Amino acid sequence: MERIGFIGLGIMGKPMASNLLKAGYSVTVFDINREMAQALVRQGAALAETAKAVAEKSDVVITMLPDSPDVEKVVLGAAGVGEGVRSGMLFIDMSTIAPETTQKIYQMLAEKKVSCLDAPVSGGEGGAIAGTLSIMVGGEKAAFERALPIFRALGKKIVHLGAAGAGQVTKACNQIIVGCTIQAVAEALTLAKKAGVDVAKVREALLGGLAQSRILEVHGQRILDRNFQPGFKIKLHRKDMNIALQAGRTLSVPLPASALVATQMDAIIAQGDGELDHSSLALFLEKLALV
Ligand code: NAD
Repeated sequence: MERIGFIGLGIMGKPMASNLLKAGYSVTVFDINREMAQALVRQGAALAETAKAVAEKSDVVITMLPDSPDVEKVVLGAAGVGEGVRSGMLFIDMSTIAPETTQKIYQMLAEKKVSCLDAPVSGGEGGAIAGTLSIMVGGEKAAFERALPIFRALGKKIVHLGAAGAGQVTKACNQIIVGCTIQAVAEALTLAKKAGVDVAKVREALLGGLAQSRILEVHGQRILDRNFQPGFKIKLHRKDMNIALQAGRTLSVPLPASALVATQMDAIIAQGDGELDHSSLALFLEKLALV
């Protein structure tokens, strides 16, 4: 089995690295926040002091970091993955980042004869824990086939979408649908609440009809439970909406609903709530509606 290095052990990275250990891989981990790595060390992972050291001890390096600048720094920066790689290695970025950053990293690592895949995921913390993520992969077919056994330890739906960056474009499409659907669920439940109709019953009724969706089920329940602990931080979803909106601008594709949702996310972040779950779009609407 290939030796895996895993960098970025937050809400998603920690359970993903844990599933690789459970599948029998030897895993070397690194996170700037050392505490995040401790649970994995207890499960048998080796701890590295830098991203460079992770690459030196691995055949395949995976990153699961917040944003484009983080991935760029960890891969191309000082003591980064790029300084520790050898010819023939595979680098897989599973973070959600801008396709342009993905392209830049592919080019830099290609010069060191390292193959790359962009493989962002959907399915949230629950999917990461259960190993049932949807994995959207861009990059060369041979690299995809090499990575398949690793992906099978992390997810269920694994699709190769095309060349470098195709995975990130697909993830941006995913985030448009998720963001706009949370907005619709939040609007519907806020209206029901102010009208004095039992919100739990509204959710139940709607789950039986055409409006049913996984987001009405999961995020609707979060809104009912007033559980806004992340999950998926709203500041990270705003980052994803920005990636989608930037792609829309570049290609002249209007994305009016996405722009509206992104603006509301801006307001939530301005109010100091960027660390809350993205279902907190409902909290914002409730404030506007004085519910
Ligand atoms: P998170 O903020 O919980 O975790 C990120 C981790 O990266 C943290 O532990 C942080 O300390 C670490 N980190 C940051 N900079 C670093 C650096 N320079 N070197 C080493 N470690 C560093 O974020 P998350 O929710 O796990 O999301 C990670 C990525 O996955 C993001 O791109 C996000 O958009 C995407 N994603 C998240 C979800 C979700 O539901 N949470 C779902 C799908 C995709």
